[in-house]
Amino acid sequence: MRRRGRLAPSPTGAQHLGNARTFLLAYWSSSANDEQLSLRIEDIDSPRVKPWAAQQAIDDLRWLGIRWSGEITVQTDRTRRYNEILSFLRRRNRIYPCVCSRRDIEAAASAPHETGLHHEGPVYPGTCAAWRDGDRVPEGRPLCWRFRVAPGNWSFVDTICGPQSIDVQSKLGDFPVTRKGNPSRSDDQLYPPAAYQLAVVVDDIDHEITDVVRGDDLLASTLRQLQLFDAIGAAPPRFAHVPLVCGSDGRRLAKRHGDTRLSQYREQGVPPEKVVRWAASVSGYPLEHLSPGEPLESIHQDVIDSFSWDRLPKDPIILDRHRGPGPNTVAWR
Ligand code: GLU
Repeated sequence: MRRRGRLAPSPTGAQHLGNARTFLLAYWSSSANDEQLSLRIEDIDSPRVKPWAAQQAIDDLRWLGIRWSGEITVQTDRTRRYNEILSFLRRRNRIYPCVCSRRDIEAAASAPHETGLHHEGPVYPGTCAAWRDGDRVPEGRPLCWRFRVAPGNWSFVDTICGPQSIDVQSKLGDFPVTRKGNPSRSDDQLYPPAAYQLAVVVDDIDHEITDVVRGDDLLASTLRQLQLFDAIGAAPPRFAHVPLVCGSDGRRLAKRHGDTRLSQYREQGVPPEKVVRWAASVSGYPLEHLSPGEPLESIHQDVIDSFSWDRLPKDPIILDRHRGPGPNTVAWR
């Protein structure tokens, strides 16, 4: 079976240097493994999605010289499929309607960015968990559907981070698989829009994804998603969670660390080769043997030809735009 990978930008804002580095690693590893790489736009987080951001992400990826194949998938086109899976899970009593008004229900639309297996929010206490399929779905107040996680330790071996294991039930808890909404009783409108965890798993199953490369802030999500793969009856892909690019305060690169938007570099006439060489050098591929004028395509080919996850530094990359390189610190000038 042909291996398949995917790029999955969220158009909730501009893509920055940190995103570029993760996308480039996904591209290099998929090319090195002769995978088919697809692109899907994770636009289900409607309150946060920006109308310009999907096209901008596509333009950024093209500018970086990243190639994918096939049609671009858009998650908001797949509501019907997500609802089918929700009904499947409901009939097996793996999800239940939850009327609790907790902040983590609101937050479920997007990928939760966590530290390692550490979950920052409270663990859901199971207030609504007694519901069984056939019971009345609460009406007249907003609800989300929550996944009933299975007990015991759940484990996987990450290509980069090694063995990971956690008791999902006690450490992470039952998690939302839809956003919060006011669904009606008719079967096709029983569910508010799908949340991140569900959409990602259904997409990866339907697109026969065998290899996922993404930021290591989604490690805990992977443990949740393994339970969803299992409940749906599908084999999970292989995962490689990449250490993130962080700002000088050690937190995930964001706006507050300065403007590292790819679109901004593009507008300023910064050559994409500069970004690609930077991403390669902070990922274990210094490329000093290549001439300064080396074309984009052959920079990519050089990394792909020698690609190995063993070369990737295991610690987060600290991007300090002001102080220049220090231990573990990389400059962008
Ligand atoms: N769209 C998610 C993000 O940009 C990535 C989700 C995934 O790779 O599973 O954070």
